[in-house]
Amino acid sequence: MSILGVPFHWRKRRERYRLIGSRCEICGKTFFPRREVCPNCRRRGRIVDVELPGRGKVYSYTVIRVPSEGFEYYTPYIIAIVELENDVRVMSQIVDCNPEDVYIGMPVEVCFRKIFSQGDKGIISYGFKFRPLDESWVRYYEEEAKARVSEANV
Ligand SMILES: [Zn+2]
Repeated sequence: MSILGVPFHWRKRRERYRLIGSRCEICGKTFFPRREVCPNCRRRGRIVDVELPGRGKVYSYTVIRVPSEGFEYYTPYIIAIVELENDVRVMSQIVDCNPEDVYIGMPVEVCFRKIFSQGDKGIISYGFKFRPLDESWVRYYEEEAKARVSEANV
């Protein structure tokens, strides 16, 4: 990938991979998936959309070897609880990773993937999943941040 291409892809990536949850402005709790009503405050709660950090680490996981219907294609696959950078925990499939390579504490990032196609109706769902964090993007992002700082100091 050329140097010029990188920022464009990074911006596109940021836009596409937004993970939206809910936050209650009364008790300050964040929820994922989105909720209509705060389970703590009930009717007193005030729910707003909030963008969650797209990165986190594997908090716990299990490898599924006997698939449920519609998941046959993926067997064996990894289901994990991912702890995001703001400590919110979400359950998700881990993709692009062999079941023997996953570990507790593994850095991961959100991505969007096809979930399943529904028989002959051809319905395809997309949803969020997590994959091992791509270190080269982390390095790029850190360098970009450094560049911004030095530009600001000129
Ligand atoms: Zn609340």
